[in-house]
Amino acid sequence: MITQLRATAGIYAELMGSKIYLDPGPGALVKSNARKIPINKLDAILISHCHIDHSNDAGALIEAMTSGLREKRGILAGSVSALDSPDKPVSTYHQNSIDKRIVLKPDEQFNIGKLKVTTTPTEHTDKTGIGFIFHAENTISYLSDTNYSKKIAKKHTSSDIIILNCLYLKWDNSKADSYPQKHMDVEDAKKFIKDINPELAIIQHFGMGIIKHGPWKVAEDIQDSTGVRTVAARDNQIIKLGSKAGNLKAWTKKIS
Ligand SMILES: [Zn+2]
Repeated sequence: MITQLRATAGIYAELMGSKIYLDPGPGALVKSNARKIPINKLDAILISHCHIDHSNDAGALIEAMTSGLREKRGILAGSVSALDSPDKPVSTYHQNSIDKRIVLKPDEQFNIGKLKVTTTPTEHTDKTGIGFIFHAENTISYLSDTNYSKKIAKKHTSSDIIILNCLYLKWDNSKADSYPQKHMDVEDAKKFIKDINPELAIIQHFGMGIIKHGPWKVAEDIQDSTGVRTVAARDNQIIKLGSKAGNLKAWTKKIS
């Protein structure tokens, strides 16, 4: 995040006719304008947890979504830590300017227009963090920042596509002292992918170890070991989804 060797702007998605911005970290506003993403027409801003690389630009995007806070519109949905804690990263001033505010815990459900979204648990330093499952034409999981857990994997087994925040090349427990691993490394990503067995896995949120090693090499290694098509996300990458799960094999060839 600090070096911006890789952008931390988050993910923009168009699903079932809704325009959604997920985890707007630092750069979301600038990158969106550079890429002509219609942030003035957003239907929802989602925040998985309070950490700055996932929430920093939320206020700026709320201003975009509400025409500079003049029009009360849109959904803001996020974890307790992001929206409802004393040191929440999204100000009350901004939260009062949107049409609908939804504070979320794991295993809850809400709708963005016709799109059904469910939340999932995470194991992270932000104890109230959540993941999301989008029930669109394809079922898409965003696991958010979490370490590996079989219990969490089970929540995502019906997903066609999973997005994994894979931070470490290899987490070394012996050197970790008391600092807890609360992010996945490549081996954790493999375990998640094997358990969930999706059509496509997208890895992102890389730390410096993976960036120096080459994210594409990591994706290849994961794909070889799991048998699941795996893509290392690039900045500004667009992934076009087929209308049916059956189309996935065709369109995944078009990626990368
Ligand atoms: Zn985090």
